[in-house]
Amino acid sequence: MQVPDDVRSYFGIRGVRWTRRREEIFAALCGCADHPTAEELFQKVGVRDTGISLATVYSTLELFTRRGLCRRIGAVHSADQRAGGARYDADTRDHAHVITADGRVLDLPEDLGREVLARLPSDVLDAVRSRTGVRVARVAIEFIEDA
Ligand SMILES: [Zn+2]
Repeated sequence: MQVPDDVRSYFGIRGVRWTRRREEIFAALCGCADHPTAEELFQKVGVRDTGISLATVYSTLELFTRRGLCRRIGAVHSADQRAGGARYDADTRDHAHVITADGRVLDLPEDLGREVLARLPSDVLDAVRSRTGVRVARVAIEFIEDA
């Protein structure tokens, strides 16, 4: 995802106070196509240059998630059941993910994702509501590669 031109106002309209460190973490997340974990993002922003700690990366990603600046994908289990930590996505639009056997998370091409969602029968969503009591706000689909 491209970093917004005016990060201060992008943060501001979501109630996040701008700081240089927050912008650096957000820019690093936007620069990742592979939906990094907090640890992977921490490696990328580099404590040596920025003084940003792993704890700061964690808390900032949680803040961004609460305020809609990014989305937490949840712990990803690849086909070989290797557990990974929560992954984060700066692209908050609805889109589907493909999880590779080695645990990488890739975006499904947008047109293909739209096609999958369009083919989801509305009576299935109605059944989810009637059988679980949960009204579905959005659907997240993950395609997991065979190991
Ligand atoms: Zn994504």
